[in-house]
Amino acid sequence: MRYLSTRGHPDRKRFSEILLEGLAPDGGLYLPEHYPQVDAATLARWRGLPYADLAFEILSLYIDDIPAEDLRAICRKTYTQEVFGTREIAPVAALADGLYLQALSNGPTLAFKDMAMQLLGHLFEYELARRGEELNILGATSGDTGSAAEYAMRGKKGVRVFMTSPHGRMSPFQQAQMFSLQDENIHNLAIEGVFDDCQDIVKAVSNDLEFKRRLRIGTVNSINWARLVAQVVYYFAGWFQATRGEGERVSFAVPSGNFGNVCAGHVARMMGLPIETLVVATNENDVLDEFFRTGIYRVRGAADTYETSSPSMDISKASNFERFVFDLLGRDGERVRALFAAALQQQGRFDLSAELPLARDRFGFRSGRSTHADRLATIREVYEKHHRMIDTHTADGLKVAREHRQPGVPMIVLETALPIKFAATIVEALRREPERPARFEGIELLPRRVTVLPADVGRVKDYIAAHCA
Ligand SMILES: *Cc1c(COP(=O)(O)O)cnc(C)c1O
Repeated sequence: MRYLSTRGHPDRKRFSEILLEGLAPDGGLYLPEHYPQVDAATLARWRGLPYADLAFEILSLYIDDIPAEDLRAICRKTYTQEVFGTREIAPVAALADGLYLQALSNGPTLAFKDMAMQLLGHLFEYELARRGEELNILGATSGDTGSAAEYAMRGKKGVRVFMTSPHGRMSPFQQAQMFSLQDENIHNLAIEGVFDDCQDIVKAVSNDLEFKRRLRIGTVNSINWARLVAQVVYYFAGWFQATRGEGERVSFAVPSGNFGNVCAGHVARMMGLPIETLVVATNENDVLDEFFRTGIYRVRGAADTYETSSPSMDISKASNFERFVFDLLGRDGERVRALFAAALQQQGRFDLSAELPLARDRFGFRSGRSTHADRLATIREVYEKHHRMIDTHTADGLKVAREHRQPGVPMIVLETALPIKFAATIVEALRREPERPARFEGIELLPRRVTVLPADVGRVKDYIAAHCA
């Protein structure tokens, strides 16, 4: 399998080449040249496989430059009951008639990003050892991404993590999760500023190509194809759990921000997994809902990007969306380039309303948005009726899922985090503290390893250079 850029660059690359890279040279995102097709006989053969072996079957369709036995070993090392808490890894539970929740949030940091990031940690370690290289990962986080990256990379050979976060602005639980890590190769940099300052610093460092090359700086953000393909696996696992026969169709509702999670659903559907509808659920930051309602994609400015109670979906643009647009436009890289490198830069928007029927009918997308009041009501209702606490992002997913139910088609809502990560809103909704998994008892009291720095690129560079021995 070779990989191409969504903006039409002629290069074709192999998996291990794009694994450690971010954007393609022309600024596009990598996608496979084609989507391998999975027929009913293959699905029947995969039904009942342990999650790690299902992951191997799917990944091996996309990765042909890691020996099969090595790839299988990596999958088995990654998807274990010890790390993910259950034998199923991503268990589906019925909520009400035909409505299901799929738990993707029982990994080390209690958010769905662990599902992909844990695999990435093992793949990075493997590939760096094979090349005899090292990598210094620089990132910016407002919470979930940073902790998932740190827990995936902690103790891994050849990798260091430098994670910037806005000083004092993450939830107390998220701070405790990250700052209590004592691993030598993990560096927490609390920046005196807001999340945008952290992102600007990462961008400025990455734009210094000499520094970037000399210090071997890389990233693990959600545009990484390896993360995306790892996420494809749980759509298959969810479908197997909610169906009995290979002809049955299922819909998924996905709490969405950067379009990484639901893009994996799109890939699964393109491979032939019988998915009826992919429901994109947004919060008040409704860039994606606007697109799937009107066909207009409009990037928001800082003034209309809101801080909400489902903060991991607070985005001004959706960084993985370009992948879907590429497929929507019949894989026309020139048109994608015109939209993302020209129209978006100049007008901050583009209009694909002519393609909207295709997005809905051929690609199965629907959407909706949810507000703070909706979240509170949904969390309350699920707790009262079903005795289950759900987090704020999952509540957005469930609220919008209900607006798109179809008779006879199971609807699986992806649970993207556990409520303990966003305790303040749970207390607001339920007047009680969220449940806390035993391994996180007292985490706020552990010693912390964090360096506070001003929002100054030079100071961050100095810190990295001094700790890259
Ligand atoms: C990252 C995140 C999301 C959004 O996922 P995308 O892939 O960016 O669409 C939703 N919920 C939680 C809890 C997250 O951490």
